[in-house]
Amino acid sequence: MLKIEKLDYSYGPVKALDQVDLELNPGELVSILGSNGAGKSTLLCTISGLLKPQSGCISLDGNKISGKKPSHIVEAGIVQVPEGRQLFGPMTVEENLELGAFSRRKRGESDQIARDMERMYKMFPVLGARKKQAAGTLSGGEQQMAAIARALMAAPRVLLLDEPSLGLAPMVVREIFEVLKALPETGASVLLVEQNALAALGISHRGYILTQGQMRFSGTPKELMGDVRLREAFLGSERAKQKE
Ligand code: ATP
Repeated sequence: MLKIEKLDYSYGPVKALDQVDLELNPGELVSILGSNGAGKSTLLCTISGLLKPQSGCISLDGNKISGKKPSHIVEAGIVQVPEGRQLFGPMTVEENLELGAFSRRKRGESDQIARDMERMYKMFPVLGARKKQAAGTLSGGEQQMAAIARALMAAPRVLLLDEPSLGLAPMVVREIFEVLKALPETGASVLLVEQNALAALGISHRGYILTQGQMRFSGTPKELMGDVRLREAFLGSERAKQKE
């Protein structure tokens, strides 16, 4: 459904993406792994239209979306949960979730939106309990859940997640990964950017490893984990961390 071909993006002289190819199929959860500065966030931002690639093509179901405005890309069904969550802090949880459904309300989907709101509170009971609370007063894990729920309120076909476990305590990270694992059941295909490589591969159908803007390796979690070179270069340090 989502296809990226030969994508290039540079910040002035800094080449952040170099001939990147990627595919995401319906119902898949696919991880993009790589060290700091590998180009992961840049890749997500080119997909959501926040950055315009200098060359290459991004298409959804054969329709080119690269170069289109972010609002057009959201309408097409691609929604990003940005790094750092970026909720509207003074607004309540409920108001933040309603904002996620903004485009759908314009299309007259009010009944379906009300049903989806209830579905979100079932999926994230803590948000139901805090729906009248200002989003800025939620804990880090709760804010991440609210950011995911807000994105799901747009009824996305493709969900882009940038470092959802960033800055969260290990117990909360486990909770977030349980949520992420269930996301394909909502009907959205998921592209997940994570530094927490082992945990991400543990819930993914496939993974890509980005190094210095180039997509050099891809495969199933078993293939990636089974490759000694990759494990040592990209996954080994995490395994060592886990053993500590
Ligand atoms: P991290 O995990 O640290 O967020 P990343 O894999 O998401 O890293 P990007 O943030 O996409 O990597 O950055 C890719 C490269 O582009 C890096 O070399 C970075 O320094 C550079 N870069 C990112 N944003 C800018 C910018 N606004 N101006 C100049 N260079 C940038």
